[in-house]
Amino acid sequence: MEPSKPNRFTDIRVPFFSLQDVKVYLESNNIQYSVMIHDLQALLDEEKKDMKLGRSLENARSTDTFNYATYHTFDEINNFIDTLVAENPGLVSKIQIGRSYEGRPLNVLKFSTGANRPAFWIDTGIHSREWVTQASGVWFAKKIVKDYGRDASLTATLNRLDIYLEIVTNPDGYVFTHTSNRMWRKTRSPNTGSTCIGTDPNRNWDAGFGGGGSSSNPCSETYRGRAAHSESEVKAIVDFVKSHGNIKGFVSIHSYSQMLLYPYGYTSTPARDQAELHSVSRNAINALSSLYGTAYTYGSIISTIYQASGGTVDWTYNQGIKYSFTFELRDTGRYGFALPANQIIPTAEETWLALTKLIEHTRDNLY
Ligand SMILES: [Zn+2]
Repeated sequence: MEPSKPNRFTDIRVPFFSLQDVKVYLESNNIQYSVMIHDLQALLDEEKKDMKLGRSLENARSTDTFNYATYHTFDEINNFIDTLVAENPGLVSKIQIGRSYEGRPLNVLKFSTGANRPAFWIDTGIHSREWVTQASGVWFAKKIVKDYGRDASLTATLNRLDIYLEIVTNPDGYVFTHTSNRMWRKTRSPNTGSTCIGTDPNRNWDAGFGGGGSSSNPCSETYRGRAAHSESEVKAIVDFVKSHGNIKGFVSIHSYSQMLLYPYGYTSTPARDQAELHSVSRNAINALSSLYGTAYTYGSIISTIYQASGGTVDWTYNQGIKYSFTFELRDTGRYGFALPANQIIPTAEETWLALTKLIEHTRDNLY
């Protein structure tokens, strides 16, 4: 997490060769610290072993025998998407909204039972290393088809609203986390005049673009890009939202920190609908914590986590999508981005309870 205000924690990853220097620096400046992960590589090696084992246990030819409790590659998730569509042709379709910088398809699942409906959008994985989010997205997709016609609320929802779900929102980054660097966050587009690669796709939106909490340095993890919507992964969603014209709720899912956030991130001026967004968030996190007791904080982005400019849901909110939210899923740093795979299903289950509250509120308060 970025440093934000005095008296807040920040998480840092220190290369082994700098460890002693960093400890000396912290101690000599009287900065308290604790070590949450002693050896990240050991954790990632463990994760890789688990993935192999997890895949050996599944038969991915059906979404019933797909292993939801393991992390999957980009190709495996795309196979899952095609299988789910083939199994549920009357309910689910796949839309390709564009291509990533490296040419991979930007696939969106559409759950729909009628024409010309207002819609609710969910995306996961815009930051590629946040693996529990893409894995939760896969679980949500299966949950929606399982519940339609069985669960009264979800059925009522899909009789009034379409749901769009983009699971791998940053495919180039996601592939890179599997092949080269598990901790990769940004896109993979090159930057002229720099050897550093990638733009932060959650600083690239035309909402306070270039303001505080975003960097102009291409080597930064929060590099905003050369211009708003420069990243094809972002531009594809921008074009889709504008051409659809009737999206009423928008949730962009990240990890980690256990937070439910609403606009704004670029300004401390409260959103016009702050009181409503705040109370809906409270209901959602109460539902979430009812399952396993997972504690969430909630509030506006700038007041709860840190100032961040050019973020997704600030843009969607300014487009008139009142119900715009961002999640930061499990955990609070014990495992961070390397959340063990045995937490995927519990994370997805509890998050779904919160999402359901947000979707129901949108459904029942169409504007
Ligand atoms: Zn993120």
